[in-house]
Amino acid sequence: MASLLNIDRKTCSRWIRDEGLKVIEENTNPLLVMGIDLEEFIKKKRAKNQFTLKENEFLCFKCHKAVKSKIGSERTIKTGKRIGKDNQEQFKKTGNCEVCGTEINKYLGVSQKD
Ligand SMILES: [Zn+2]
Repeated sequence: MASLLNIDRKTCSRWIRDEGLKVIEENTNPLLVMGIDLEEFIKKKRAKNQFTLKENEFLCFKCHKAVKSKIGSERTIKTGKRIGKDNQEQFKKTGNCEVCGTEINKYLGVSQKD
């Protein structure tokens, strides 16, 4: 199963141990996992990892979700790095999470789509 989906065996057993992926029977070798369970599991995992941020949103690592910055806390600053083919200056937006106050950042650059 692990090889079918190109997943490292170690990754697979970690998912089972730490993240609650269901196995058909414990302590078998190789580990048996229902294909459908694994599919669902991976789908959920991907959804979790994908945050679509709107222009005025940041990802807060403490809240684990997209948040807005506190009004007035937002600043755009130079990171001092240069990125991309054209050697553009990189900027980041920084502010404080309006929920928990943690500093939140996002990088603005050539790869930014919005
Ligand atoms: Zn927060």
